[in-house]
Amino acid sequence: MNDYQHILLAADFSAHGDYVASRAQRLAEICGARLSIIHVVDNIPMPDTAYGTVIPLNEDSSYELLEAKKSRLMQLGDQLGIDASSRRMVWGVPGQEIVQMAGQEQIDLIIVGSHGRHGLALLLGSTANGVLHHAKCDVLAIRLQEGGA
Ligand code: AMP
Repeated sequence: MNDYQHILLAADFSAHGDYVASRAQRLAEICGARLSIIHVVDNIPMPDTAYGTVIPLNEDSSYELLEAKKSRLMQLGDQLGIDASSRRMVWGVPGQEIVQMAGQEQIDLIIVGSHGRHGLALLLGSTANGVLHHAKCDVLAIRLQEGGA
């Protein structure tokens, strides 16, 4: 079996995110793999117009939220030593966008947290579940528990 060559970390910037990121970084080191990150913006209302979905940059709160997310992504990328071309922020449905990037970038392992911002009520969060069902490559869900990693 070959080692993984290109690993994708799905980062939602939730409380457990640093733990998931550190596992991804360690695995990439062990495999000698390239590491990329994706963050999907899914909580800013995007009006549909005749020209498609438009990011409302003229609305201060949306703009500030986007800037904050961008700076979190840059910070995480710097922390993990990931170069700028391997950091992606897109708007959409997280599970779909993560799977789509994995297909486009020849990712062979996607790393997600078992849960994210949507709580620990289920065995697997909805994004992790969606990625697991639709990805064409391996998926590693880092188990997260209440009150710790
Ligand atoms: P959830 O389905 O929200 O419980 O999240 C489970 C995991 O999916 C998280 O730990 C992240 O790894 C990933 N994830 C969730 N939402 C996003 C997002 N907006 N962008 C990137 N990854 C995400």
